[in-house]
Amino acid sequence: MMQARRRTVRDLRRGNRETLLRALFFGGPASRHELTAQTGLSAATVSNVTADLLADGVIAEAGQVESDGGRPRVLLRVNPDYGYAIGVDVGETHVRVELLDLGMNELARTDYALRPARHDVELVVRHILAGADLVLSEAGVPRERVLGLGVGVPGLVEPGPEAVIHAPTYGWQGVALGTLLRAGTELPLFVDNGAKTMGQAELWFGAGRGASTAAVALVGSGVGLCLVTDGGIYRGASGSAGEWGHMTVAAGGRACRCGNRGCLEAYAGAEAVLDRYRELVPGEAGEEEPAFAALLADRSPEAERVLAETVHYLGAGLGTLINLLNPERIVLGGWAGLLLGRRFLPEIREAARAHSLALPYERTGIELGLLGPDAVARGAATLVVDGFLLDSQRALQSV
Ligand SMILES: [Zn+2]
Repeated sequence: MMQARRRTVRDLRRGNRETLLRALFFGGPASRHELTAQTGLSAATVSNVTADLLADGVIAEAGQVESDGGRPRVLLRVNPDYGYAIGVDVGETHVRVELLDLGMNELARTDYALRPARHDVELVVRHILAGADLVLSEAGVPRERVLGLGVGVPGLVEPGPEAVIHAPTYGWQGVALGTLLRAGTELPLFVDNGAKTMGQAELWFGAGRGASTAAVALVGSGVGLCLVTDGGIYRGASGSAGEWGHMTVAAGGRACRCGNRGCLEAYAGAEAVLDRYRELVPGEAGEEEPAFAALLADRSPEAERVLAETVHYLGAGLGTLINLLNPERIVLGGWAGLLLGRRFLPEIREAARAHSLALPYERTGIELGLLGPDAVARGAATLVVDGFLLDSQRALQSV
């Protein structure tokens, strides 16, 4: 149980600092006057805390605006060059590493291909560390200005510094990724499930922006989900909430990579969709992403049948989600989800309608992700930025 603790003056100052920094990060540039109105803090507090933030270099002036009759007002914004975040997507077919500044501008990126069948954790760790070195040297950013390294991974991530991962489809059972990375870097580490990092990116900057209750679906080789309630990510009792890909859509149905049968992923994940197509039209299993794109362009009866079934099962999964969560918005993302959605969004909406109750369906918008297939890496960087916004005074001192 959490210990009761008296809030000290220092806690209060830190809370005010976080409040103002978040207001500027998400809504800036803004004048002190606007910040007072937005945050409900007093004008004196806004004045004092922004002076501290300016002195620390965390925020900067960004021009002036005319005010009604009075003196022009100085605009403030987060200083994009105060610090940097590295975001990593450990995907099924690649490790992608991106470097972003605090304005969330991408400064450099690199990709390492992974063979789908081989996800040796030592190799993945080497790619992450080498990628971090490479993007820093490419952008000319010194390591001491980096606020942290965020990593989006498949599977379940246990909360805690070891970041123990359970991803049976990767052959990762209890892999302490945090400990392995820690041996090769001093940077603060943030590890989370890739669907959750993607969800946070869409929530902050994409199709989920402004939503209080939402679900962000990641459809790639497999199927994941980020549940958003009260504007924050819902994690459940031990961090595994949102394993939507392993929801049963056909009891006793096709074998899933998780070991069970009839899961949504066994029907709507790109790997399973391609397997189903090859059962109808035998052929070589090529690279997944081009093969999936080719299937979507294929107008043969076999391709149409497999895709119609995919939409049907995806709709069943979405319908149950609508009934259970009553979300205001569902965002469909992930590389395969975006490809499917670009061709079939009206059909996907219709299939979701056919599998949900009328009232919650009518209140739910189903939209495509706006950040593209890179949203997992960008979302991993948001984990770092979130840590910075929470405690900007400690952020760079801890490196
Ligand atoms: Zn499963």
